[in-house]
Amino acid sequence: MTYFQEELEAIDRWKHLRQGLFRNEEPSVKLVAVTRPVQEYVAQDITSETLPAFTARQSHESKGTHEDDLRLNRKLIEWGHDTPLQALQFVYHVTGISKSLAGQWTRHKIGIGWTFRSTRYVKASLNTFVYPALEYIDSEDTVKEVYRIYEKEHRHALEVYEKLLAKGVNNQELRRLMPVGWSTSAYVYINARALRHFFKLRLAYAAEWEIRRLAYIMFNKVMEISPTLFEDFAKK
Ligand SMILES: Cc1cc2nc3c(=O)[nH]c(=O)nc-3n(C[C@H](O)[C@H](O)[C@H](O)COP(=O)(O)OP(=O)(O)OC[C@H]3O[C@@H](n4cnc5c(N)ncnc54)[C@H](O)[C@@H]3O)c2cc1C
Repeated sequence: MTYFQEELEAIDRWKHLRQGLFRNEEPSVKLVAVTRPVQEYVAQDITSETLPAFTARQSHESKGTHEDDLRLNRKLIEWGHDTPLQALQFVYHVTGISKSLAGQWTRHKIGIGWTFRSTRYVKASLNTFVYPALEYIDSEDTVKEVYRIYEKEHRHALEVYEKLLAKGVNNQELRRLMPVGWSTSAYVYINARALRHFFKLRLAYAAEWEIRRLAYIMFNKVMEISPTLFEDFAKK
């Protein structure tokens, strides 16, 4: 099952027109790692998903089955007892996102961190672009025309980049020439509490399309691991 499928399809209604555009890159999200209890606790039926409830039981020194812990996860969220959600950490690898998205994403400060590809150390000639979705334009001809204009600007930016590189200008100054649609990639480290905060703000329609698309994709990944910690967003 894909959550927010309709929303994803609406944003990507012109995706087929982007295929073959100059250095186009679409987003890709992989879940790389998730906190797992060590063997002693796995043997007690504790899973990544039930770590928040299991650790929260400290307050009453209570015990519960796996099913009890799944129920308690839901209760913790309902009560706003969010601290135990910090028991669970996710590592994602995200590629095909723009510098514009990175600018918005890095405004989130609590319980989240990144390692981005450096444009000081990695040359732009290897780089790609994230084209706008233009999902609000209904005319296919207009969208094709707009994409052609973006292509032209992207080619131009890279041409100037290469020209100045040949004159000895460093990557770190050359990157200033690049549009914010220039792509980047990152590993992101985020705990379940911070991820819920990110989803609250970025799954909402008020969020900009690219970061909202990313939030939909990231959401689908964690729903495979720990649905009780995130399913209320799908219900809303
Ligand atoms: C739809 C949308 C539009 C936006 N538009 C703009 C815009 O036009 N311009 C712009 O600059 N930004 C904009 N932002 C960014 C926004 O202002 C936040 O910086 C961003 O969403 C990160 O949210 P946060 O601070 O809650 O997250 P985090 O930094 O992860 O903080 C999480 C929570 O910790 C607490 N917290 C964090 N820092 C402090 C602190 N210093 N003091 C007290 N409590 C703290 C708060 O409860 C906060 O919600 C926009 C965001 C959204 C979702």
